[in-house]
Amino acid sequence: MKFIIGNWKMNGTPSDKESMLTTLANTKTKNKIVLCLPFTLLNGNNNCGIAIGAQDVSNHENGAFTGDISAKMLTEMGTKYVIVGHSERRLYHNETNEIVREKATIAIKHGITPIICVGETLEEKNTGHTISVIKKMLLESIPESGEYIVAYEPRWAIGTGLTPSTNEIVTAVKAVFDTLPNPRPILYGGSVNANNAHDIILIPYVDGLLVGGASLKSDTFLPIIKSID
Ligand code: PEP
Repeated sequence: MKFIIGNWKMNGTPSDKESMLTTLANTKTKNKIVLCLPFTLLNGNNNCGIAIGAQDVSNHENGAFTGDISAKMLTEMGTKYVIVGHSERRLYHNETNEIVREKATIAIKHGITPIICVGETLEEKNTGHTISVIKKMLLESIPESGEYIVAYEPRWAIGTGLTPSTNEIVTAVKAVFDTLPNPRPILYGGSVNANNAHDIILIPYVDGLLVGGASLKSDTFLPIIKSID
């Protein structure tokens, strides 16, 4: 079983969600599909076997943190997964590895599986620092214990249409595998589409895909799901 996790980012309406769930409910797959939706779409259960995830969680339990959403609130909405440390949060909201670790830890405490994102910038790649950057981010971002997923997402591949070579992905995900204290599912994310999903999922150590832009519409998401079934 592989994970196929959609990240809708700041997109989607209730009818978009309903229409995607209806399509997915009619799609047979042996893989695990998760939709990470904006907070406004987390309400309501579905009975089509699709897990719902969030895209962020507060590192605090509760209190005076205007605009934030706690892990307990997510649990109460039936949220099973949460993305933490996505590069857009690290970049636009100054999230450090320490904060990411706190978020992952609090999610686990409330029964939610965090999807911890790590990945190098283009400059770090071009200067030969990919592996050292990933290892440091990982070691500083992962919680001490509990179940979690790691997503290797090179920053330069997110939303750009660029993807690393097969060799680059193997080297990076193997480094993630070797750095983790215990085996955990490792995803690849960054410009996944129906043309590259099948090849990427066959790469050793890749347990699934984190899909951004292509997860928004069933025309682009379904072919990915089908291509790796
Ligand atoms: C992402 O946002 O995690 C992502 C991988 O985006 P995209 O697939 O659009 O590159």
